[in-house]
Amino acid sequence: MFRGVDYFCVDSLFNEQELMVRQTARRFADERIAPLLRDCFRDARFPTELIPEMAALGFLGANLEGYGCAGMSNAEYGLIMQELERADSGVRSFVSVQGALVMYPILTYGTEEQREKWLPRLQSGRAIGCFGLTEPDFGSNPAGMRTTARLAGDEWILNGEKTWITNGAIADIAVVWARAGDRIRGFLVERGAPGFTATDIHGKWSMRASVTSSLSLSDCRGELLPGATGLKTALACLSQARYGIGWGVLGAAMDCYETAREYSTVRKQFGGRPIASHQLVQEKLAWMITEITKAQLLAVQAARLKDLGKLEPAHISMLKRNNTAIALECARISRDLLGANGITDEYPIMRHMCNLETVKTYEGTDHIHGLVIGERVTGVAAYAG
Ligand SMILES: Cc1cc2nc3c(=O)[nH]c(=O)nc-3n(C[C@H](O)[C@H](O)[C@H](O)COP(=O)(O)OP(=O)(O)OC[C@H]3O[C@@H](n4cnc5c(N)ncnc54)[C@H](O)[C@@H]3O)c2cc1C
Repeated sequence: MFRGVDYFCVDSLFNEQELMVRQTARRFADERIAPLLRDCFRDARFPTELIPEMAALGFLGANLEGYGCAGMSNAEYGLIMQELERADSGVRSFVSVQGALVMYPILTYGTEEQREKWLPRLQSGRAIGCFGLTEPDFGSNPAGMRTTARLAGDEWILNGEKTWITNGAIADIAVVWARAGDRIRGFLVERGAPGFTATDIHGKWSMRASVTSSLSLSDCRGELLPGATGLKTALACLSQARYGIGWGVLGAAMDCYETAREYSTVRKQFGGRPIASHQLVQEKLAWMITEITKAQLLAVQAARLKDLGKLEPAHISMLKRNNTAIALECARISRDLLGANGITDEYPIMRHMCNLETVKTYEGTDHIHGLVIGERVTGVAAYAG
């Protein structure tokens, strides 16, 4: 089993319960996900067969309370994300969407009836959810969205297009954001609702083991999430998901680093010496372990602040942006250290690298999170500048 990456005694910052949860997720990643992933990625197939097992382990909505959710601490939740993404970003994305982008808004903005109907099903994996915010012409700037919701009698009727939606075509329930008058509001749309269709996006070189779809809503009935009033409520869901991403990408970085470290000790060039004996190689390994360690510390502090209710969106921007950037750089450096072998799917590195290109873009691009940080430290918003 994976032995972990811990240069700076970061494990001493976790309690026994947190380490136990990580061990469970680690074993699941190694024994259940890893053996499937190479073929899933080749075949562009999401391993739905893993959903009931992840549900039984409490991974779905793990840090939420009630309705069958495990009520884990934010560090426990983060460590699960880390281990899942060490296996593959697509599997972690499924769990992020289900918990942070579907269960969280239903729990936070839904009626008691909506919670009782959907949360136990979503937690147990009997239902799958998706989150529709992005549109063909509005990605980084969802405030411009064109999807509309209007009241016809006592029914909400939705019209519009959403795209790049994780889990879209396999979802039983979609959380859809639409313009209702001068406000953006959140709605639930059930699979099979007349006027609702979901089609898969093909030809991806990234997140191949994840379902990504476009949604079309044509005079389609939606159920209002009464508390989801304004774009801020959609962004609050994204904050939950981005927090998990900040941890998840650490797993991908660790897998790349460990693969390259091990390889460098056995691969011999120039007089039978391992490539690890070269200073240039050691400098790359030193860079990776230093950046991974800094990223781990950022993640642990984020978890502690989140438990205290003190984690702010601008903190999460730094966590998501920094940790994704260093993970992607670790993937690129590790690929380099494996030479030609690095480009094959015998090793996980190119898969992680391709997946991380999505992670850099979704849930707020690297640029946009840079602008959030810039606004925080200057007091000046530069999004339109
Ligand atoms: C595999 C995958 C899964 C996804 N899953 C979901 C999902 O489940 N639900 C969902 O709603 N969306 C999802 N998305 C969509 C994702 O959130 C968007 O792709 C993302 O918000 C960026 O939008 P865009 O692709 O339209 O890029 P654009 O917004 O067009 O950006 C293009 C480039 O311009 C830059 N840019 C834009 N504006 C600025 C600015 N003001 N200053 C500086 N640079 C700027 C961006 O940083 C980027 O580099 C997913 C995307 C992918 C690839």
